[in-house]
Amino acid sequence: MRIIIIGGGILGTAHAFEAIRRGHQVVHLEREAEARGATVRNFGLVWVSGRTAGELDIALRARELWEEIGETVPGVGFRANGSLTLLRTPAEVAVAEETVGRADATTRGFALLDAEQARALNPALRGKFLAALHCARDAAVESRQAMPALRAHLAASGRYEFVPGVEARAVTTAGIRDDRGRHYEGDQVIICPGAAHGGLVRELVGELPVRRVRLQMMQTAPLDEPLTTSIADGDSLRYYPGYAGTALDSLNRIQPQDVVAELHHMQLLCVQRLDGGLTIGDTHEYREPFPFDVTEGPYDYLVGLVEELLGRALPPVERRWAGVYSQCTDPDAVVCRRTPVDGIHIVTGPGGRGMTLGPAIAEQTAELIGL
Ligand SMILES: Cc1cc2nc3c(=O)[nH]c(=O)nc-3n(C[C@H](O)[C@H](O)[C@H](O)COP(=O)(O)OP(=O)(O)OC[C@H]3O[C@@H](n4cnc5c(N)ncnc54)[C@H](O)[C@@H]3O)c2cc1C
Repeated sequence: MRIIIIGGGILGTAHAFEAIRRGHQVVHLEREAEARGATVRNFGLVWVSGRTAGELDIALRARELWEEIGETVPGVGFRANGSLTLLRTPAEVAVAEETVGRADATTRGFALLDAEQARALNPALRGKFLAALHCARDAAVESRQAMPALRAHLAASGRYEFVPGVEARAVTTAGIRDDRGRHYEGDQVIICPGAAHGGLVRELVGELPVRRVRLQMMQTAPLDEPLTTSIADGDSLRYYPGYAGTALDSLNRIQPQDVVAELHHMQLLCVQRLDGGLTIGDTHEYREPFPFDVTEGPYDYLVGLVEELLGRALPPVERRWAGVYSQCTDPDAVVCRRTPVDGIHIVTGPGGRGMTLGPAIAEQTAELIGL
């Protein structure tokens, strides 16, 4: 079959990967010169730890697929580095204790470590914390280089063509028309528009049950030592749905968040890039219109927090940016799929887990539409 894919982010690229793997021809359109949406702005965390029980199977499948992709396409920078959620209060430790006591804790590779055991795993953590929740299944990829690396691999098949700098504008009887009036013929069209919920998508399906969420991020100059695992703070327990339970209810009741963290709906996530720099975030903004600039308060707070956990000064911050993702409003929906016209499919709304789940979402789509 000839498949047209729209959107050069992880969802579009993972669908292209899956279609090529299944022996099809792919034409892949992206309106920018290179992917510029959530995919290149994220942490690159393949994050199994905080997923709910209902999402666990797809998260583990995605983790498996990322590992396979990493072996085939080393340029994506996959590494099974695991994560440590650093716990600074007894109430946070109680959430981790409840989590490791659950039936699926082994499947997730969870272990509760004391501070000394955590430091043995990640010697850069010389700062203040009581204990850490280790997740051996968590992993990371290099978001800024992964899409070009995947495309180069696909191009070597001889069945893949990337067409950047064109916007898909209309569905025709044979396929797609772009904003230069060119036509692309295909047997199936898969539209992965990210947070671009208007334009072609709105014309095809109207309003989708999705919202947009904006995050602020930063990256430091290279740290002069390895951060062997990704790290998160206790606030991440409040954000990831997999930690829900009585201990979390009690944490939320007795331990207010820092005022800056609460105001900007923050948690700490931090991962070391392959060049040594640290990607650090994040904030969450839910109300539109979103600010067009980044605010400094959350950055000061995050620098202070990472310095406290590492017990040292951070290298200078070299880059700051914001990103917007599309998230299903139904908390039980992993992704939003629609087929408004025979052979035309829209896939978006994976929220803050799209980088993690991308390969498995694409595999599911391929099964559903009979690729
Ligand atoms: C700051 C931030 C941090 C995050 N961290 C993580 C993380 O660590 N782990 C994780 O699992 N998830 C994370 N996420 C979520 C994840 O990045 C997203 O869920 C995922 O990247 C969505 O991929 P996508 O392909 O759907 O969208 P995008 O990456 O936004 O790609 C959509 C693409 O479609 C193109 N497009 C849209 N309309 C058209 C059209 N008509 N014609 C042509 N092209 C079009 C756009 O230009 C864009 O390049 C994070 C998100 C953000 C914003």
